[in-house]
Amino acid sequence: LEEVAKVAPSIARDIVYELRDQRNNLKLIASENYSSLSAQLAMGNLLTDKYAEGYPFHRFYAGCDNIDQVESYAVAQACRLFGAEHAYVQPHSGADANLVAFWAILSAKVKTPTLESWGVKDPNQLNNEDWNKLRHLLGNQRLLGMDYYAGGHLTHGYRHNVSAQMFEAFSYGVDPETGLLDYEALARQAAEVKPLILLAGYSAYPRAINFRRLRQIADDVGAVLMVDMAHFAGLVAGGVFTGDYNPVRHAHVVTTTTHKTLRGPRGGLVLCTKEFAEHVDKGCPLVIGGPLPHVMAAKAVALTEANADEFKAYAHRIVENARSLAEACLARGMKVATGGTDNHLLLIDVRPFGLTGRQAESAVRECGITLNRNSLPNDSNGPWYTSGLRVGTPAVTTLGMGPDEMKEIADCLYQILSHTKPETISEGAQAGQPSKARYQLDDQVKAEVRAR
Ligand code: PLP
Repeated sequence: LEEVAKVAPSIARDIVYELRDQRNNLKLIASENYSSLSAQLAMGNLLTDKYAEGYPFHRFYAGCDNIDQVESYAVAQACRLFGAEHAYVQPHSGADANLVAFWAILSAKVKTPTLESWGVKDPNQLNNEDWNKLRHLLGNQRLLGMDYYAGGHLTHGYRHNVSAQMFEAFSYGVDPETGLLDYEALARQAAEVKPLILLAGYSAYPRAINFRRLRQIADDVGAVLMVDMAHFAGLVAGGVFTGDYNPVRHAHVVTTTTHKTLRGPRGGLVLCTKEFAEHVDKGCPLVIGGPLPHVMAAKAVALTEANADEFKAYAHRIVENARSLAEACLARGMKVATGGTDNHLLLIDVRPFGLTGRQAESAVRECGITLNRNSLPNDSNGPWYTSGLRVGTPAVTTLGMGPDEMKEIADCLYQILSHTKPETISEGAQAGQPSKARYQLDDQVKAEVRAR
């Protein structure tokens, strides 16, 4: 840090402030964790100076011998950890990993000769007219992914994301009564839509998914099954989701981030069957430029950590904690979507407290707890204000917390939410109505919770 401070003191200061923030507030953000010091040090070094376009032992740059070793070690660890036929560890993020997977599936299934038949002679020299043809070609393909508002991710065909430009995007939701995936309804929808890709995975769904069933649905309509396990990769790695619930056993292509339950550096990776390997390895130049060797080194460290027995125990404790937290919330009369959880997160409906998710998130943060607001299925408050809180246990489990602490957290949440009231709008057309953003939090409760 001293070296950083010599050049950019404010950055050194902000790093220290962030450390203070993460130590002084309880981290319940479902997509965050604490990576190990080994992973952080493998990332913060001179490896960042190297270009290595291509893939191991097949590079467009000279002098990549050491990066070849780093990357192939990370690939081997990923294959071992997940029992995958092939792994690609270059994506800089989960969004990149999904783009690589989309392009790989398109490349494998929408054959290049079609380009020639469309009059595109040299794919490396596409002019504007060619690009239009290509776009048209891609536009004919369909993607069926989980609805963003039901817990899916932006990159799964959300209308403002590039995935919805690349494909004709369709989405499936959850049963409005139970909040659960309805496999029969999905099978009917898939038969109607006939997508090129059936995409499963979520950012905010609290239940295990039967991937064997999804593969049947995909096979019945000739679709590729792609699973984005960004959120629950650590639970797959740690043997919580096995058999029908392990996506790597059933999907053609699986993507993930490396920084959520997997507890590694910020990044992504793609796993696939041999059929897609050659296409996935073309992530550069299809989607990305030079990989980040320092991050691949950190992924290698984190994947090695996840291959150890200790990580299995950690993964099981994440779920045990999430279940304890859900039960403790229910015991205090709080409303938990689907009535509980099978994974690392739960969704609390804050409408019974007369609050929006935005108000609840801010009030809770004032008391030293960091979590985020989230839409609930068919949320009448929209994606900005929302009606829910997404609560995750990966980070607090890393800190060594267990069921007793989960009860205490439930106590704190209940105490804060039941002592927070929406402010009344004083002016304009909505005067007299409760605000969706502003709130009043009892000062004594704030002091009490912070003291705990
Ligand atoms: N996929 C899912 C299911 C996610 O939840 C996320 C991030 O929250 C991503 C992809 C994107 O990951 P990143 O933020 O690394 O691009």
